Amino acid sequence: MRAVNFCAGPCTLPLPALQEAQAEFVDFKDSGMSLIEMSHRSPEYEAVHTDAIDRLRRLLSVPDEFEVLLLQGGASLQFAMVPLNLLEGETPAGYVVSGSWGKKALADATHHGGAYAAWDGASHSFTRMPASDEIDVWPGSRYLHVTSNETIHGVRMVEWPDTDVPLVGDMSSDYMSRPIPWERFDVVYGGAQKNLGPAGLTVVFVRRATLEGTRRDLAAYLRWDIHADKNSLYNTPPVFAIYMMGKVLAWVESEGGLPAMENAARARADRIFRVIDESDGYYRSPVDPASRSLMNVVFRLPDEDSEARFLAEAEQRGFLNLKGHRSVGGIRASMYNAMPMSGVEALASFMDSFR
Ligand SMILES: *Cc1c(COP(=O)(O)O)cnc(C)c1O
Repeated sequence: MRAVNFCAGPCTLPLPALQEAQAEFVDFKDSGMSLIEMSHRSPEYEAVHTDAIDRLRRLLSVPDEFEVLLLQGGASLQFAMVPLNLLEGETPAGYVVSGSWGKKALADATHHGGAYAAWDGASHSFTRMPASDEIDVWPGSRYLHVTSNETIHGVRMVEWPDTDVPLVGDMSSDYMSRPIPWERFDVVYGGAQKNLGPAGLTVVFVRRATLEGTRRDLAAYLRWDIHADKNSLYNTPPVFAIYMMGKVLAWVESEGGLPAMENAARARADRIFRVIDESDGYYRSPVDPASRSLMNVVFRLPDEDSEARFLAEAEQRGFLNLKGHRSVGGIRASMYNAMPMSGVEALASFMDSFR
């Protein structure tokens, strides 16, 4: 039996994608070898590579002005590559510090250039996103960095900041669950392990015009322009992760694409928030209703003993990984694209009966 896995990442993936990979694993397309034993310059792998990039472009309606880069190092390496590629000297760059991830992105950027907090939600315990007019973008800023969804605090940026400065977005935890307003962004990036596939792959979109101005005095792997010139085959790419992402994206397409993912995400989150909101205060969400995440629903019970009992009983019923991040405690139900509504309904009934 498959567990109902609410893990924040790596997370549940579509069963058909896993089963297809299992069937093809040992002998890939009658080649006599596994895909992971094959040259990344082979025609078989090239087809996998191209297919994955094409599906990303199609599903996210990526304009031709953007390059698609398939990299390693996670979103965390992009915390460094963004400022390394875009900043010179003391060029300022604003960061919306909306939670743990935005904070880490800023901390890394302070080593390169004049990165500053354009807004800091720490004083609100990261329970909401800023309104546009609360964000203080300094004149001459190269970009404003935003985190579309703070995975740990369960806070989502519903409205993109209204600013003249180009946006750079970490969309790790809500990739492929909402449209991306490309005209606002120079760079969008995210680790694959929350909605796109397994860990080990990072998907970066960079505007071609931006690449003309990126720094060249960096080690080769750190240069976006090199990866773009080499179609993400500068060095050995994470072939298995890219292959798995292709399978996941094929499943997304078969389910109705991005609009279907967005509707399903809203239905899942609404269902759990309904239980919370109708629990007479037994379950409490610390998050401002206007900033509620559709992917990571965080909530508290009246006390930590009840939370521990909730987690233990949930686990007995096959609801796994509901413990909140160790830095914030409480409960977190992460419900990414592959989480079926049946799993959410089952959790909702359990929450009602537990109360
Ligand atoms: C998980 C996550 C990261 C870190 O991703 P890695 O791929 O593990 O480096 C960064 N930002 C957000 C919003 C995340 O959810």
